[in-house]
Amino acid sequence: MKKVHNFTAGPCVLPQQAIDAAIEALKDFKGTGVPVVSISHRTKEWEDVMNECRALWKELLGIPEGYEVVFLGGGASLQFLYVAMNFLENKAAYLDTGVWAHKALKEAKGLGNAYAIASSEDKNYSYIPKGFEIPADLDYLHITTNNTIYGTEIKEDLDCPVPLIADMSSDILSRKVDVSKYTLIYAGAQKNAGPAGVAVAIIKKDALGKVTRYLPTMLDYRVHIDKESMFNTPPVFSIFLMNETLKWLKGIGGVEAIHEINVRKAETLYAEIDRNSLFQGTAAKEDRSIMNICFVPAPGKEDLKDAFLAFAKERGMVGIKGHRSVGGFRASLYNACTQEDVDALVECMKEFEALNA
Ligand SMILES: *Cc1c(COP(=O)(O)O)cnc(C)c1O
Repeated sequence: MKKVHNFTAGPCVLPQQAIDAAIEALKDFKGTGVPVVSISHRTKEWEDVMNECRALWKELLGIPEGYEVVFLGGGASLQFLYVAMNFLENKAAYLDTGVWAHKALKEAKGLGNAYAIASSEDKNYSYIPKGFEIPADLDYLHITTNNTIYGTEIKEDLDCPVPLIADMSSDILSRKVDVSKYTLIYAGAQKNAGPAGVAVAIIKKDALGKVTRYLPTMLDYRVHIDKESMFNTPPVFSIFLMNETLKWLKGIGGVEAIHEINVRKAETLYAEIDRNSLFQGTAAKEDRSIMNICFVPAPGKEDLKDAFLAFAKERGMVGIKGHRSVGGFRASLYNACTQEDVDALVECMKEFEALNA
């Protein structure tokens, strides 16, 4: 197989150990003689996977008592609706930090009174708004901790006077989180926790049941908590692979260990972006994401964009084209992306500079 360095924004690179386990399980799931995709989800063997996966989430993130972990289909985008359905009664505020935050707000507006409390749209979402007042009468404040498209990140857990809800799709498991500061954390798995097809929600149980609207069965978090994410057939293969990804993460030392690695990877690449005369970063320095690194050609070098993409592709770099709303380049340095991958990209940028400066 061709050796590549995968910087794709999502679905993302996954640890080889997890991929290999999935290949084995497709042949024979735990010695049952049945592929993991054909086993009944009501078997003991499958329930063990569900239990292990839930326990790993709790262990890796240090999830306190009173919180439940559920696995749901529909991606993070369906969580936008779950949030509003389960928590919006009178008024909710959203921090508008990009396309995903905007889409989350849209779902809430469709159900009730929701608004953007602050926005960085004026500078194409290149920074995180700060210093805004949070009214005490909100049902919740919704934030997007990592803005995948723009490469900005809220790197600390906010002290929030109202229930805090966070879309952590693209930075969950990249760092330690004080879960007790959140009423709800959710994430589509395919950015850092596994393959597409499953979303995880970490829910403070006693915050549920406070809305008066009718909750459709499938959109009621309480149903999924009661049924341990098996109210209906769960996305078994996605959960299997997520579980293997979590096992790998635990094996290398958990979120604290990976955070150190992630910071070093990001610093390596940002240092090169700042040094290299052909490139510049797009996100405000203090808000730079350690997961998604966005950069563009330096002023006057715009015509080198396609040449660099081709040059990098030649050298095995995959998925570094920037999102169309920012342009330029984006390298996503999710957990399974290694320091060696980043070093290879930096080397490639240096070589390109030597040929084109
Ligand atoms: C990718 C992404 C989403 C959407 O995820 P889906 O699982 O495709 O619905 C939402 N929020 C953030 C921050 C993302 O990066």
